[in-house]
Amino acid sequence: MSTPNVWIDGRLIETSATVPVIDPSTGEVFADCPACDASHVDDAVAAARAAFPAWAALPTETRANFLLKIAEALENSGQHIAELTTREQGKPINAAIGEVCGGAVAWIRATAALRPPVDTIQDDENARIEVHHKPLGVVASITPWNYPIMIACWHIMPALIAGDTVVIKPSEMTPLGTLKLIELMGEILPAGVVNVVTGTGEIGSLLTSHPGVDKVVFTGSTGTGRKIMASAAPTLKRLTLELGGNDAGIVLNDIDIDAAAPALFQSAFGNCGQVCAALKRLYVPASIHDALVDKLADLSRQAILGNGFDEGVQFGPVQNKAQFDKVCALADDAKTRGGQFVTGGAPLNRPGYFFPLSIATNVKNGMRIVDEEQFGPLLPIIKYDTVEQAIEWANASENGLGGSVWTRDIDKGWKIAQQLECGTAWVNTHSALHPMAPFGGAKQSGIGVEFGWWGLADYMQLQTRHLNKALFA
Ligand code: NAD
Repeated sequence: MSTPNVWIDGRLIETSATVPVIDPSTGEVFADCPACDASHVDDAVAAARAAFPAWAALPTETRANFLLKIAEALENSGQHIAELTTREQGKPINAAIGEVCGGAVAWIRATAALRPPVDTIQDDENARIEVHHKPLGVVASITPWNYPIMIACWHIMPALIAGDTVVIKPSEMTPLGTLKLIELMGEILPAGVVNVVTGTGEIGSLLTSHPGVDKVVFTGSTGTGRKIMASAAPTLKRLTLELGGNDAGIVLNDIDIDAAAPALFQSAFGNCGQVCAALKRLYVPASIHDALVDKLADLSRQAILGNGFDEGVQFGPVQNKAQFDKVCALADDAKTRGGQFVTGGAPLNRPGYFFPLSIATNVKNGMRIVDEEQFGPLLPIIKYDTVEQAIEWANASENGLGGSVWTRDIDKGWKIAQQLECGTAWVNTHSALHPMAPFGGAKQSGIGVEFGWWGLADYMQLQTRHLNKALFA
C-alpha cells in the first residue's frame, strides 16, 4: 500500500522519512508510515494554536454539530479504517468494525451532548459569584495500540466540545487507522482544529514538552506516563494520564458458575487481554476453585485464534513483538515457580505473535504473573480461604484502575466493591464503561478522569467570576 500522509493545518503533508508498520498476524512489514520530525511537531502545534481562538469562540452547540457530522461520516465510511485496524492491530474484523463504526460513533454522539455547567455560589444584593469553564488551548493526545480509534475519539472529542484544538500522536505500532481518522475529521473541521504527527516516543516527547501545548492527554503504560509528567512539568501543562492496570476480580462462593464463567472469560480475554481494565487476576474461593477453573479452561480451549480477516476467528495475535515476549516471559516465570497452566502457557508454533488464551493455577501474589500487568492472554487464578484475605491480595498492587466482585448477594458485593482501591469497582461485570461515568485510575494507574462532565472538566480552565454589587450601589 502507498505511504499515507499526515494531516496538518487542513492539508495532507508528505514526510521524507518513513517507519515500517508490522502485521502482527505474520510478523512481517506490510506498510510504511510517515516519520515526522521536530519541524512537523512545530507546524502542527502552530496550526492548532492559530485555529484555537476562532474554534473556542464558537457556541458549544456549533462545535457539537461538527462532532455529529464526524460521527455520521465515520458511521458511513469507517469500514476502511476498521480494515486498517485489523491489519495493524490484529483484532478480528468484526471487533474492529464494532470499535470504529459502532463504539466510537456512539461515543462521539454521547460526547456531543455534554455542556459545561455554570454554578452560582452567591447571588444577592452584595455579590454575584459564578463558576465558569473556559477552553484550555492546545491539547496533545498520545495514544496506545490496543484500541487506537476508540481511544483517539475518547481524547479528541471532549477537547473539541470544550473548545480546545488538538495534535494527536498515535502509537507507532498502529498509526494507519488514526491517520485516516484524522483526515476524515479534518475534512469536516476548520483547518488546524485537529492535526496528527506520527513517529516513535521521541516525537511524543517533543509534543508533551512543547511550550505551545497547554494540556496532555495520554493513555499508555505507567512508565511512559511518568516520563510525560516530567516532560510537562517545566510549563505546568494540565495532564490526564490513563495508565496501566492490574485489575483483580474477587469471586464469592455463591455464584452460578455456568452464568459467571462466560462473563469472567470475556472480561479477561476480550481483545486478547490487551485492555487496560481487563480482568488480570482472579481470586476464587477454594470451595469452587476447581469447578470454575474447569469451566474457564473449556471456554479457552474452544476459542478460535487466527488472522483477524479469516472467517470465524474470535481472537487475534498479541499486537507486537515486545508485548509477545513479555507474555512469554511471564508464562515461563510462572512455570519455573510452580504455576500450572491448565490450558495454554506457551506460544503457538506459527508465524506472527500468537499466544493461546492461557489459564494459570497454583499461582499467588509475589509471582510476576500476578504482580505485573500482563496485557495479554494470561489469566492467573488464585485460590483463597477468606474474603478478607482476597480483598487484601487484590489491593496489594501499585495499580488501581478497576476491580470487580462476583456474587449473587448484591449488598455484600456492593460493600466489598467499596473496599477495593481502584477508580472503578464493578459488581458482576468488569471493564464495562459508560460515556457519562468518569473513568480513571487510583494509585499509579493515572491522574484525572475521562468521560462525562468530570472528564470534560479536565479539558477546561475553571474561572470564578466575582461581581461586587455593593461598590456602586
Ligand atoms: P506505551 O506507554 O509504550 O506507549 C503509548 C504511547 O506513548 C505511544 O504512542 C508511544 O509512542 C508514546 N510514547 C512513548 N514514549 C514516550 C515519551 N517519552 N513521551 C511521549 N510519548 C511517548 O504504551 P502501549 O504499550 O502503547 O500501551 C499499553 C499500555 O497502555 C498498558 O500499560 C495499558 O494498561 C495502558 N493502557 C491504559 C489505558 C487506560 O485507560 N488506563 C487504556 C489502554 C491502554
